[in-house]
Amino acid sequence: MTFESLGLHTSILRAIADTGYTTPTAVQEQAVPAAIAGRDLLVSSQTGSGKTAAFMLPALHKFAAAAEVMDVNASAKTPNQERQAARARGDRPRFQAAKPKMLVLTPTRELALQVTTATDKYSAYSRRVKAVSILGGMPYPKQMQLLSRNPEILVATPGRLIDHMESGKIDFSELEILVLDEADRMLDMGFIDDIEKIVAATPETRQTMLFSATLDGVVGSMARRITKDPMVIQIAGSATKHENIQQKVHFVDDLSHKNRLLDHLLRDESLDQAVVFTATKRDADTIADRLNIAGFAAAALHGDMHQGARNRTLDSLRRGQVRVLVATDVAARGIDVPGITHVFNYDLPKFPEDYVHRIGRTGRAGRKGLAVSLVNHAESMNVKRIERFTKQLIPVDVIEGFEPKKTAMAARAPARKASGWKPGDKRTTGNSFGNSSKPAQRSFSKPNAAPRSEGGGFGGGAAKSRFGDANGNRRSFGDR
Ligand code: AMP
Repeated sequence: MTFESLGLHTSILRAIADTGYTTPTAVQEQAVPAAIAGRDLLVSSQTGSGKTAAFMLPALHKFAAAAEVMDVNASAKTPNQERQAARARGDRPRFQAAKPKMLVLTPTRELALQVTTATDKYSAYSRRVKAVSILGGMPYPKQMQLLSRNPEILVATPGRLIDHMESGKIDFSELEILVLDEADRMLDMGFIDDIEKIVAATPETRQTMLFSATLDGVVGSMARRITKDPMVIQIAGSATKHENIQQKVHFVDDLSHKNRLLDHLLRDESLDQAVVFTATKRDADTIADRLNIAGFAAAALHGDMHQGARNRTLDSLRRGQVRVLVATDVAARGIDVPGITHVFNYDLPKFPEDYVHRIGRTGRAGRKGLAVSLVNHAESMNVKRIERFTKQLIPVDVIEGFEPKKTAMAARAPARKASGWKPGDKRTTGNSFGNSSKPAQRSFSKPNAAPRSEGGGFGGGAAKSRFGDANGNRRSFGDR
């Protein structure tokens, strides 16, 4: 399949040619023609699957087609032309609310910026299309200036958008397309009321596209409430299953063991750039400092940093000046840097879904990647939960000179029992820890091709589970 065969406007095909994409990804193949036909979409796809283009290309196509009609009917003025004409007449209207045609809601600032950057690329030859990000952490005057240009496309995080809506700076009465990107994540972050409010402010006639890792539970019911006769697209491609990412667990005895092992792994010759995930912002700072002293070009990224500092760090990462990014979950979502060859879980994530997002920072656009979790023995249960969520076994690796005092096997046995997995369980094969009688201290050169069901999407087996939060509390918002 080619991009031409998807029926896209020539201005968009030209921009795609510049990006170097040759064939549409699985999600683009299915979503683009359906969206061009005007269908609402519910798409289960993971980060790295090419989902941004899946919703942005058809939207830009629609705008390009409308611009042509506008050209034929030369007397019709765009809202911006009307504003200019009013100014020329000497009318001095007070602030006019921005009236975007498309709104993309994202859970984090980083993802919003990434979507905006991708949109700029895809719309390089589109006339009358301007995309701007409306984000928490950005100074209000700057945002007012962006909104005063009446952009066609707004990419926003829900909280800040609500602020502007309530102060009358944005009017959604002309909105044609609404996209919810990583909808499950937005709900996890507690944005449900904001989303409902935003959706209620948009016209019933809009086209709605919702992208989410899962459509179970609350996301599923919201998705069905806000869409009309949606086409459901479920992508179980390699990006979803992360087949191009080798995963490993290393057991560690204590913090000093963990730090020594991390330093050793960061010296791997195949490592180009890495992200090290920590549970807290403080740890991110401390570890980045320690790694800098040890001679790694490291930097921290977390929610306590000002947006400007976050952007500068991300730019340095993109330019390769930062080799090791030490980050918390929320700050690192949506990072798309091809040079990231390794992801390290210095601490395991709180939610199994976060594990999938974390390891998705490597192996971007079909490249290979390595994801290593440094786990103390008491956390084996959490590894099992991740395995159940991803339906993949994560092989245990041991490096000579860094062996844990407790063997990995000993550490894992109770976890398997507790999680209901039995020896000989169909899902354990070959060189995995499950049914091997060999000692645990072996190095796995390849990840297991553990059989798994094709779930992970709508109504599939990817039900949400959490850990590390005994009270079942929602995540803390401290790191937004
Ligand atoms: P996304 O899932 O939208 O974050 O995209 C993940 C990565 O895939 C980004 O680096 C995109 O630039 C890249 N990408 C998107 N579509 C294609 C395509 N058709 N061919 C190659 N790379 C792509």
